Parts: sequence; structure tokens; C-alpha cells
Amino acid sequence: MRVARAERLAKISVRGVVQGVGFRPFVYQLATRYGLKGWVLNTSGDVRIGVEGGEDSLQGFIQDLEGKAPPLALIEDVSVESLPSFGYDRFEIRHSLSEEDRYQLISPDIATCDACKSEIFSPSDRRYRYPFTNCTNCGPRFTIIEDIPYDRPRTTMRHFQMCPDCQREYDDPLDRRFHTQPNACPVCGPSLRLIAGDGKTIPGDEITISNQLLRGGKILAIKGLGGFHLACDATNDEAVKTLRERKRRPYKPLAIMLPTLDEIRGHSELSKEEVELLTSPHCPIVLARWKDSSNVSRGVAPGLKYLGVMLPYTPLHHLLLRETGLPLVMTSGNISEEPIARDNDEALLRLGGIADYFLIHNRDIYARYDDSVATVEEGKTQLIRRARGYAPSPIHLPFKSRQVLGCGGELKNTFCLTREEHGFLSQHIGDMENIETLEHYENTIELYKKLFRIQPKVVACDMHPDYLSTRYALKLAREQGIAIIPVQHHHAHIVSCMVENGIQEPVIGVAFDGTGYGSDGRIWGGEFLIADYKGFERKGHLEYVPMPGGDAAVERPYRMAISYLYTLLGENTLNGKLNFLNQVDSFEIDLVKKQIEKNINSPLTSSCGRLFDAVSALLGIRKRIDYEAQAAVELEMAAPDGFGDIKAYPFSILEQDGVRIIKLGDLFRAIIADMERGLAASEISLSFHHTLAQMVARMCRTISDETDINMVALSGGVFQNRLLSRLTIAALKEDGFTVLTHSMVPTNDGGISLGQAVVANFVEC
Ligand code: ZN
Ligand code: ZN
Ligand code: FE
Repeated sequence: MRVARAERLAKISVRGVVQGVGFRPFVYQLATRYGLKGWVLNTSGDVRIGVEGGEDSLQGFIQDLEGKAPPLALIEDVSVESLPSFGYDRFEIRHSLSEEDRYQLISPDIATCDACKSEIFSPSDRRYRYPFTNCTNCGPRFTIIEDIPYDRPRTTMRHFQMCPDCQREYDDPLDRRFHTQPNACPVCGPSLRLIAGDGKTIPGDEITISNQLLRGGKILAIKGLGGFHLACDATNDEAVKTLRERKRRPYKPLAIMLPTLDEIRGHSELSKEEVELLTSPHCPIVLARWKDSSNVSRGVAPGLKYLGVMLPYTPLHHLLLRETGLPLVMTSGNISEEPIARDNDEALLRLGGIADYFLIHNRDIYARYDDSVATVEEGKTQLIRRARGYAPSPIHLPFKSRQVLGCGGELKNTFCLTREEHGFLSQHIGDMENIETLEHYENTIELYKKLFRIQPKVVACDMHPDYLSTRYALKLAREQGIAIIPVQHHHAHIVSCMVENGIQEPVIGVAFDGTGYGSDGRIWGGEFLIADYKGFERKGHLEYVPMPGGDAAVERPYRMAISYLYTLLGENTLNGKLNFLNQVDSFEIDLVKKQIEKNINSPLTSSCGRLFDAVSALLGIRKRIDYEAQAAVELEMAAPDGFGDIKAYPFSILEQDGVRIIKLGDLFRAIIADMERGLAASEISLSFHHTLAQMVARMCRTISDETDINMVALSGGVFQNRLLSRLTIAALKEDGFTVLTHSMVPTNDGGISLGQAVVANFVEC
């Protein structure tokens, strides 16, 4: 029987993050509330809805679809087609439809919601103390999905058959676990196992015993969402020291997890925005001001003013943290630069020398996924490491892109696949210096290609011929006969910053970082460019100095100090008056001089990172480094927090063939004079930062006067330096510039794959 004529059928397609976030039950409940009939289903590309009923009800339904969507849904587009009514007799959720070549966005993993949290702490609940509790609004997503559409058989949860109670929740459109793919309970779901280093299972309650072990100073490897953490009592100096020794990481800062926001406040000063970020569903590690009164071991972040803090984001974390009552170190389960360990066997093998015990479980992790790391500057979130809670959500592109793969750089690698208006910037992959990371990289590229149905027609890479990512690009281009576009490192940095700010017109790009292969074959890193998506012109840079010994100069910053002094001020400067030289073997000083003089393995660099290294070593702050940019970070930390009038050091700008070169001789002469006057390193550090900000401001003014461009994009790892960023932005704004900075795309090399892909998209091939 046909329904009344006033009724019609609306066919609706919703795109965005609308799967795995409780969208279909929401649609079901909404349709029921409006008395509408029809269906809803997931496809590979969207959520499709057919609803029929009266005009007012349909209008209300469509309005609420966007207005009242579940918290984790991110609606990008709703399109509605009006048809004559069909005569459905009820509203139903239909089977998912898999379609070739369509794609949809995939939710990142989401921190445990309040409803689930209260269940695991309620003794009467059937999920009391169950560490794998989740629901439509929280839990694992990206780390368990193997293909789309997102349904249980295509996740690592397919190995667990739901019990009748869980199945009932799953089938009930009014239940908050309706179609929750990772739904589980103690009867049917994954379970914990605690094992000793020798592989023997420890009987008893895993969480209680783990807590006893942690309180006793032991190191545990704990399987989480995207891999293993190494955990220990963060207030126990000895435990932290042991962890560092075993991990072979004497200085690199470790993150800690605390049970509640109040607990975090006991150790860190938090701004309103930092609180919001910590408690958001992304739940990243936030680098927040470390209180002097905190009893967290200083060994957790030696020499730093900031402490990486986060809240528990899985039920297992909540249970462990609440029951130990301790701040726990929670650092990636890996040795030095290998990727985070994922599988149980792999963890036992690779972390066997580090952890005393292993708290494991039997839910497989499909994608490795590190914790994200963020800072908040002037109220704005800045991701330093973009992974859990953020990837694989795309970066919105201000244009429609071809399918391009940007292969990224070497350190802090990510890759980026583009399609239409989406830039799928991968989660942090790691430093591409070993075979394990390369394998992780290749596998993750394949996963993204599959999930987002992307077959790149163009591959972009860095210009550095020896990067593993460049070699991967070359291999891909050769095997698949696709075009390869090398993109200059700093051009990629600047474009990544433009893209995330939605800017397409040319900007003045200031790219300050450690290392990037230049178009002239030298090592760039203190660059002033005029750039847009199609190309760039190098308008200026820090002056070139040799890097004696290449990589050795990166690991031993005093080599850079010697290089600057010797090159800019002459050999006489390197005399007994300079304290830092007394700590260097005189044989090595002679060797460095010889390397510079004879140009033996001493590539020229304009790197701002190396300039920081040199000043740090010259002031006696850091001779050798354990992690990237350590010397520069410690130089920043040396500067005082508050400051009134700051002195700037002199510098000059020289024009050569239309390119402006910032000469640094006067700067070093002035620093040495201040040292001889006995001025504190803290004062010198502050003036040095201020001077760099002045250099940027003066260069940008000159370039702007020539080009009429009034917008400056700041990018490159050096801008992780919060003091330098603050001073530079202030100086530029004071001069009337519009300043673009990073937020969701890292300013370090974790962002360049996006810039590469965008530049390559605009190359005709
Ligand atoms: Zn939940
Ligand atoms: Zn169950
Ligand atoms: Fe870089």
C-alpha cells in the first residue's frame, strides 16, 4: 500500500568521521524520534540514509543530523536527494556495503569515556575492573582496523566471539554499545597476562601484582593501544636510572602518566588550554611547566623546565594508576630509535633486556601508534609528535589534490598520502635509520593506501639522495613507473605550514632547522624563502660554515663552536681563555682545525640548529648530545623565564647576487666579550635568542619591501624552541606582519611529507 502523498523519501549521504563513532545508532534513534521509516548503512565511502515521512519531520531530522551528532563524529559533508516515498514499514540498520575505490575517514583511537570509566570502578557492574571496556564513544579504532568498512570481522576483534550479554548490547539500537565493534567483557573479550622475564606466567590478579612490582621499583613492559610502554615509578630515582641505563637513553625526556588532573596539578602548572587538551578525547602528552615542588625524579627529564604529562587513556591505565597511586613513567617500548614494540613475542624479544615483567594481553594491535606530544603556546595547540588520537584524521587541503605520496624525511619521519581535499598525514613513524623502522614505514604506507583506497600516481621525496625515504621513493617510481618529484626540504617545511593555515598565495618563509639538503648540494637550515606551492626562491640565509666531520659535528656540538670561531674570527680566538676548549682533547681540536682547513669531510652548512649547538657548547652548556637538538634545548632552558629589556647582539647582512647573507662574526665576538666580562650563561642565552628574532624581523622587512609580501610562515624544528618562537612572533607582529605558525602539523620534520605531497601535486607530469 502506498503512503499519503504529503510524504517523501530523502536519500542522504554523510561524509566525514562517521563510522565507529556511534553514528548509525544516533541516526536510528533520531529517525525513531521523528517517526520516520527507512534505513541507514555504512559504505566504503559514506554513511547512507534513506528516510521517509512528513516534510516537517524530515526537515527536523536533517537539521539534527548535523546539530546533534555524537561527540566523536566529524561531519564534512551532507548531501540530500529528494525522491517519491517508497513505503517502508519500519526503520532499520542494514548491512554495510563495500564499494570499490570509495573511501571514508577513520576515527583515531579515543581515550576511555566517563561512562566506561565509572563502570570499571563500580563493584556491581559486570565490567568492574575489566581492562578492555569500551563503547561507541571510546576505545581502540585505528589500531585494530585492517580494512574498511569498519566492522568487527575486519578488525583484530574478529578472534573474539561476543557472549550473549555483549551481543545483546551490540544489537540494541538504544544501547550505548550498539554496533561497537571492539565491544567486550570479562566473559568473552581479551584478557591480561603477567609474565616474568623468563616467560613464566605469574598467577594471581595481574593488576594488583603489577602494582606491587611497580611500587617495588621494577620496570614493566605494558601492552597498550598502539604498542608497548615501559613503565616504572616516576618518583623512584633508582628505577628511572635503571630504565635509562637499560634503554641506553641517558637524557632523552620521558613522559609520565598520572591518575587525575588534580594529581597532575601537583607536579605541573597548567593553563586553561592545557587542561582542555589533557582531558580531550585525544589525550596527548602535554609538555607543561614542571613545578619545583614536584617529587617526580629529576631524572625523568634532566635539565628541562617542562614535564611531559598525560592522563590514563585506556581502562587498564585507569586501573593501574588509581591502584598504584604513583605517577608512572610511560615511555615508548623500544630500544633507542627502533619503532615501538607491538606484538607479544616481539616485545619479549626486544624489550627482554629492559623490562623485568611484561603485562600483556591477547588483543592484537594492527597499527603501531605512539603517544602524541603537544605543547600549548599562546592558547594554541602545537603537535610535536602527531600520532595517537590524531592520525589518521586528515589535514584539510585548500584545493582538490591528485593521489600523491609524500615520503617524508629521515628523522621523526611521517609520510603523507593525498586524495581530493584530504592530506592523510601518517602517525609518527620514527627515525629512519634502521631496518625495523623502514619495515614499519613500508607496512604503514600499505595500510593507508588500502584504508583510503589511494594508488599514488606521483611520489615526492626529499632531495637528500641517501635518506631511506628517498630510496624508497626511487624504488617505487622505478617499479611502478610513476613520476618522482624531489622537493627541497625547507620548501616542504614552509608549504606544510601554508597548507595547514589554508594559505595558497606566496609567503615569506622562514625555515630554521637542523639539516636539510639544499638545491646547491650544501646543508641548509637557516633559510629565508619566497615560496608558494609551485616553487620557491632563496632570498637569504645564515652564512655558511664548515661542519667538521659531518655527523660527528652534530653529535659533538663543540666541533661546531670551534668551526664558527675558527672560520669567522680566526685561529687566535681558539686560545686558553675559552673554557669549553679545556674539556676537549687537544688532539681533537687539532683534528677539527685540520678538517676545516683542508676541507676534509666538512660540508658547508647554513643550519640554525648548528648555530644553537655552537653557542650552547661555547657557553659550556652541552658538549655531546644524546637526543636530537639536546644542546639547543638546554640553551633555551638556560634563559631566564621573565625578562625586561633585552640586549641584542650585533650582526650584519650582506648582499651577494641578490641573496642576503647574515654574517655572524660580530655575534660571536660579542658573546665572547660577554663571557670574558663574566656575564651569566642565562643572560647570554636570552640575548642570543633575542638576536635571532631580530635577524628574522630585519630580513623579513627587507624582503617584504622588495616583494610587497606581508605574510611570514615560520617552520622547521628550531621553532619548537618556545622562547625563540615567542620573541620572533612578537618582533614580526610589531612590524605589522601576519605570522603563520604550526598547530596540527608538526613544525619539525614530522610535517614535511605533507609539504612534499602538495608541492608534487602542482608539478605537471
Ligand atoms: Zn566509553
Ligand atoms: Zn561479553
Ligand atoms: Fe627540517
